[in-house]
Amino acid sequence: MSEIKGFDAVPKGEPLGEYLQRVRELRGLTRATLASRAQVNVSTILRIECGKTSVIRPRKAVQERLATALKIPIEYIHAAISQEAFDIPQTNKICPSCWNPGTAPDIRWSQVDAQFCTRCGDQLIDKCLSCSEPILLRGRFCPQCGTPYRQSSLSKQVA
Ligand SMILES: [Zn+2]
Ligand SMILES: [Zn+2]
Repeated sequence: MSEIKGFDAVPKGEPLGEYLQRVRELRGLTRATLASRAQVNVSTILRIECGKTSVIRPRKAVQERLATALKIPIEYIHAAISQEAFDIPQTNKICPSCWNPGTAPDIRWSQVDAQFCTRCGDQLIDKCLSCSEPILLRGRFCPQCGTPYRQSSLSKQVA
């Protein structure tokens, strides 16, 4: 498997069909594999990828399943539908226990010298815990490896 740079999956303003095909190929998936992972018909994938029109807008549920199957934030699909280039991801610190993905992080976390969460005491992170890709504040999980930013209490039952 060749290494995939996470940010290669960021929408670059191309139409949804081109975008979908590009990310699918980045992930090394065939249309059939993607279809089965996203629980949609191959014809749906085909219709989106080969759509003559740039205004194809799959149903919300389909958008969400495609995003999950491609390990991309749903925001990427939204950006591709509107053919917007996605903002350069910000690096910022979050508390993996308190941060609610999709919301603005607590301003106290972004202070340069902040290392621990003022609410729960957890160590703040500015990179994915698994692969060190910078945190993408508009996503729920790492675009590189798919690890959720929010860590469940399972992973820290040390105490
Ligand atoms: Zn916290
Ligand atoms: Zn990662």
